[in-house]
Amino acid sequence: MNLRKAVVALSSRTTTRYSSRLFSSFLADRLHGLDRPTVWHEFSPLAAQHQAINLGQGFPDGDPPSFVQDAMHAAVFHKSANQYARSAAHMPLAQVLADEYNTKLKRTDIAAETHIATAVGCTHALYCALTGLIQAGDEVILLEPAFDIYSSQVQMAGGKAVYVPLRPSGKEGASQYFQLDLDEFERAITPRTKAFILNTPHNPTGKIFSQTELEGIAAVVQKHPRITILADEVYEHLVFDKAKEPHIPIASLLWDQTLTLSSAGKTFSCTGWKVGWAVGPPHLVQAVTAVQQWVTFSAPTPNQDAIAQALVQARQPYAGFASYYDYLADDYHQKQQLLVAALQSAGMTPIVPAGGFFIMADTSAIDFPFPTKETTPAMPATPMPRDWALSRWMTQTVGVTAIPPSAFYSPNNVPLAQNLLRFAYCKNAETLQEAQRRFAAYFQKQ
Ligand code: PMP
Ligand code: GLN
Repeated sequence: MNLRKAVVALSSRTTTRYSSRLFSSFLADRLHGLDRPTVWHEFSPLAAQHQAINLGQGFPDGDPPSFVQDAMHAAVFHKSANQYARSAAHMPLAQVLADEYNTKLKRTDIAAETHIATAVGCTHALYCALTGLIQAGDEVILLEPAFDIYSSQVQMAGGKAVYVPLRPSGKEGASQYFQLDLDEFERAITPRTKAFILNTPHNPTGKIFSQTELEGIAAVVQKHPRITILADEVYEHLVFDKAKEPHIPIASLLWDQTLTLSSAGKTFSCTGWKVGWAVGPPHLVQAVTAVQQWVTFSAPTPNQDAIAQALVQARQPYAGFASYYDYLADDYHQKQQLLVAALQSAGMTPIVPAGGFFIMADTSAIDFPFPTKETTPAMPATPMPRDWALSRWMTQTVGVTAIPPSAFYSPNNVPLAQNLLRFAYCKNAETLQEAQRRFAAYFQKQ
């Protein structure tokens, strides 16, 4: 057996061999360290193995609303939207998005032909943007905790991630608790800084950046015309108190330097459809379309066509609410309250989110056997963080799974996550109630 065959046989035998040095040696340098199993590889299978309630990976456990399913049916069966789309964006979707963003950003110049790109989810839009904008050695600032695809995509684009942690303030509510120190942010900027990824509403904390915070960020970035803000707004419609803590797109404050990214997955409970987009000035949108045409050529046409219809329909009254968006926010708010109660019954302190579908909870009151000498395949070089060990133990012993947020921090900042766990509430009420029952059964017996 030659070496390559031996490696393929070895690596296909078990996923835990992913990171064997033999296998890694075949990978391009830009993937260094990225071939390891991730937090997602570990916790969804572990939850299944222990029949745990999986509040880890964030995806809704229901189907899209029927008006969205009908739109997909119509795209496939009645409109024959089944062949390749225009590469930059399927025109009907680009037109709807141009209208939406002109309204949202109070502009009139956003044009379907030049200011909109669509992609296979926000993940792919971000990949295209980073690949299109980053030169080897350019720096990209990430606020931690940061959704884990960011640092990996920056690395694959040849860039270097520079981390600025959101600092815990001890105040109530996610938006207040996780604070950005603007001076620290400004100090992280160097002549090599090319981009800054801003996610609001924020995964995993549920923080919504306020007008004042966004103005502060915009004022700093404006001093550096080389920097592009990549604004990830996939949770833009999951906002619980629009009067007190509204979602404000940073593009409304700094249009020329912002590429706004979003997608349909969370809004319409169709994460598997993978329809995402990028909106901004043509020189930034072009970075996405230039890459996209060589990677996928176009995003799937029926999915784009259905989402174009869904975005129009969503503005209409729905289930007794003024719009589908109002219904959605209310529905998620109720789920959030169920999960808050469940976490409290386990002695945790939820840091109540202003948006999104995750809750970070302070777990310092939970005492559990912490194996200080073990490591995890995702972080082989360091001892297993407390949050990781806690989520494993909670899955095996209590029957509820969370995501350890240390997966969202760079090695130096992992200690910031040790007393936190992230729980998803994009699950049906029965699932959340069962989690509460299991928490109460275990912790109230102790
Ligand atoms: N950004 C954030 C902050 C996310 O949490 C996720 C995960 N769902 C994505 C982007 C990915 O979006 P999509 O499924 O549209 O690729
Ligand atoms: N965004 C989701 C989460 O944070 C899903 C992530 C994923 O599937 N990679 O849980």
